[in-house]
Amino acid sequence: MGAITRAEVGIDASNRAHGYLHPAQETMPREQLADLQLARLRDSVRNAYDHVPMHRARFDAAGINPEDIRTLADLQRLPFTVKADLRDHYPFAMFARPCGELARLHASSGTTGKPTVVGYTRQDIDNWADLMARSLAAAGARQGDVVHNAYGYGLFTGGLGAHYGAERLGAVVVPMSGGSTERQVALIMDFGARVLCATPSYALAIAEVAESQGVDLRTSALEIGMFGAEPWSQAMRIEIEARLGLKAVDIYGLSEIMGPGVACECACRSGLHGWEDHFLFEVIDPDSGRVLPEGEAGELVITTLTKQALPMLRYRTRDITRLTSAPCDCGRTHVRILRITGRNDDMLIIRGVNVYPSQIEAVLIGRPAIAPHYQIVVQRHGTLDEVSLEVEALPYVPADTYRAVAHDVAHHVKSLIGISADVCVKAPGTIPRSQGKAVRVRDLRPKGGQ
Ligand SMILES: [Zn+2]
Repeated sequence: MGAITRAEVGIDASNRAHGYLHPAQETMPREQLADLQLARLRDSVRNAYDHVPMHRARFDAAGINPEDIRTLADLQRLPFTVKADLRDHYPFAMFARPCGELARLHASSGTTGKPTVVGYTRQDIDNWADLMARSLAAAGARQGDVVHNAYGYGLFTGGLGAHYGAERLGAVVVPMSGGSTERQVALIMDFGARVLCATPSYALAIAEVAESQGVDLRTSALEIGMFGAEPWSQAMRIEIEARLGLKAVDIYGLSEIMGPGVACECACRSGLHGWEDHFLFEVIDPDSGRVLPEGEAGELVITTLTKQALPMLRYRTRDITRLTSAPCDCGRTHVRILRITGRNDDMLIIRGVNVYPSQIEAVLIGRPAIAPHYQIVVQRHGTLDEVSLEVEALPYVPADTYRAVAHDVAHHVKSLIGISADVCVKAPGTIPRSQGKAVRVRDLRPKGGQ
C-alpha cells in the first residue's frame, strides 16, 4: 500500500461532506457526461425502435432511423411521447421486453379511463435503487439511519421506490406506508427515525396529529424529510420545517420515467439535480414544442437512457420548470431542475391570469389565523374560470372573526397573485387531510370541452 495522496484525501473528505454515493458519476465533467449520454441515448433509441412498434412507426413516419442520432441535438428530431400513449397501449404494448422477462409492474390509479402501466426488468429495479439511494445520500441520509417511509406501498411507485433506495443505502427501513397517523407518530418517536419520506401534505398531517396528542416532533430524532410526489411551495417548506424540526428536501420522480429519484435536492437546496447519467432533460415551449434555451421556463421533457423494459423518448411530463447547468456548490455536475412550480394540467386561467395552485398555497401558508390545509374550488361561469378558496381557521381563532380573516386572505391573494377569489374560512379540522397525494383542487367545471 502506497502513501495516500493529497488528491485521494480530498475526494474522501468531499465525499463525506457532500454525501456522494457515486462520486465518479455525480461529479463527472460535463463533456464526459455528454459523451456518456450520447452513447446511452443511441442504445436507448435502438431499443425503442427495435422492440416497440409504436416508436418504430413514429420513426418511420418522420423518416428517421436510429442511426440518424449522431449528436445529443439530434434528439430534437424525435417525436414526443405523452401519457395518453401509455393508456392507448394498455397494458404492455409499450414495453421493449416480453412480460415474462420483467421483474415488476406498477400502475397509476387511473382516475379517468385505463390506468397507465409501467414495467421494470431486474436491471431497471437495480438502477432505480441506486438512483434513489444516491438521492437520499445527496439529501444527507447515511448508512445506519432509521428511514420512516410513509409513502404509500403498492402499485404507486413512491413506497417501494423509497424502500429499495433506503435499503441500497444501508439504512434501516420502516415500511410504514400511508395512514394510521397516530401510529406513525408513535413509531417515529420510538424507533428514532432520522429520515422521514412522505408527501409534503401528509408530513403536515402527521405534524398535526402529533400536536393534538401533545407530542413534540421537534424533539424527535428526525433531521431530514424527503418530500415529493406533489408540487409544494417554499412557504410549505418553512411550515413543515418549523413543525417537524427537520430539514425538508425536495425529491422528484414520476412512474412513467422510473419513480422517485429521477432528481433530488442536495444540501445546497438550490434546485434538484437531475441524474443525467440515466436521463436526458429538455425544457420545451408547451404550445409549439420548441426546445427552449437553458434558463427559460417551460415544460420538462425527459428521455430515459438506461431503461430496458420501458424506454421513454422525449416524455412530456406536464411539469413546468427551468434548468440550469451552472456549477453547484456541492460539486455535483448534473443539471439542476429548479423547483417545479406546477403542472401544466393544473394551471388555472382566472380572468386571463395564469395561476398555479402552488402560488395560492404560498399566500395561504403565510397568513396568520389559518391552518396550512386548504382546497381550491374551480367553477366555470360562461367561459370564465372562477376560484373560491376554502381555508381552515386555527383552533384559537374566534368564529366571529372568520369574516375578517376571509377578507384578509382575499386581499393578499388579490395583491400578490392578481386574482379575485371568494374565501370561505371553515372551522378547525373540516378540510379533508391527505393520506398520500393531497387533493388541493376540486374542479367542478364541466368535463370535456375544456
Ligand atoms: Zn448540488
